[in-house]
Amino acid sequence: MTKEVLECSFCGKQKAETNLLIAGLGAHICDRCIEQAHGIVVEESNHQGQELTTDLMLKKPKEIKSFLDTYVIGQDQTKKVIAVAVYNHYKRLLQSPAEDAIEIQKSNIILVGQTGTGKTLMAKTIAKMLNVPLAIVDATVMTEAGYVGEDVESMLTRLLQAADYDKEKAERGIVFIDEIDKIARKSDNPSITRDVSGEGVQQALLKLLEGTVVNVPPKGGRKHPDQKFVEVNTENILFIAGGAFDGIERLISKRLNMAAIGYKSAQEGGPIDTKNLLQYITPKDLKDFGLIPEIIGRLPVLTYMNPLDESTLRAILTEPKNAIVKQYKKLFEMDQIELSFEADALDFIVVKAIKYKLGARGLRSLCEEILTDAMFSLPGSGETTLNVDKSYVKKQLNRSRLKQLKAVS
Ligand code: ADP
Repeated sequence: MTKEVLECSFCGKQKAETNLLIAGLGAHICDRCIEQAHGIVVEESNHQGQELTTDLMLKKPKEIKSFLDTYVIGQDQTKKVIAVAVYNHYKRLLQSPAEDAIEIQKSNIILVGQTGTGKTLMAKTIAKMLNVPLAIVDATVMTEAGYVGEDVESMLTRLLQAADYDKEKAERGIVFIDEIDKIARKSDNPSITRDVSGEGVQQALLKLLEGTVVNVPPKGGRKHPDQKFVEVNTENILFIAGGAFDGIERLISKRLNMAAIGYKSAQEGGPIDTKNLLQYITPKDLKDFGLIPEIIGRLPVLTYMNPLDESTLRAILTEPKNAIVKQYKKLFEMDQIELSFEADALDFIVVKAIKYKLGARGLRSLCEEILTDAMFSLPGSGETTLNVDKSYVKKQLNRSRLKQLKAVS
């Protein structure tokens, strides 16, 4: 009987000619063929990456806005502005460098609005839609190189991490810089108690926003001094900055009044809505607040978030694709329990959120307070329904307050 000679089913090499021959179901593969196949897989996935950018082009601003609509309630004007900015940003990405001499500027965005109005949510939703990595970073922890805190490059470390260390993916990602207002220059705004290095951080940010190649420590700065740096090009990274800019309304109102006294009336476009002055924000107000002009120039798309009123909060509870109420329903459903809310119960939750100035974030904690008992006792109890009405909400909230009182005493 002749002994069967094992060979690679792909290239035909005999076992002795290979370093390694791996057996599969009725076939074998050698180390060389594995390497080659791996190369093809990598190339193919890079190719898909390029296609991703082409896919993006298929999404017109209107489609981008409707996607935002499924997750973010209201903020229509801002959604439009952002849809256009994102569209232009990725258009710029598709432009081949040799095409002509017209260089399209980056459409980095700055979002001004009170905390909890959905700035982060907006950035998250865009990243979700585009299927690109997102890093959410806080400007307050950043310092100039050499000071205690994080260097501005740390935001790119985060982005690399969010991209599973895929450099190309990271280079097309989004960085959301929260609390950009906290690095405003102190001297121009006495209400800001931030340290003096704010302006230094702004300076350090400039190059990143505009587009440059940065040596990024993949594991983060100072704790791992021996790591190999990764070169990240920020040219195609979309930066979205957000901030509450507390007190900026005063500057806007001052400017509007001054214009009204001058030759050109600010009221030309109709009466001023004094309840929501943010809608009139201009780059000059950001400058007066303490952002340096160079930073403002590199965040050319300026837009604002409306404060959340009662009807918006009510809609946030039930309407977004992953609305809080939908999430709880799902959780109960997994225990075969049908959860329902009476309309007046939801209205009452909104009233409480407003009363305690909890905003949209508070909706979630209120729901948690209301449903914790049920989430504890109903699974396994044989109950198949839970209907939450106003009296149930009141009862649960009263109890939770008693608990808090006890905890304090
Ligand atoms: P910000 O970044 O402005 O402080 P966030 O985006 O973190 O606010 O919003 C806090 C939470 O409130 C989010 O998790 C989201 O569920 C909810 N929220 C805020 N605004 C909206 C909105 N317009 N539509 C839907 N949900 C919102």
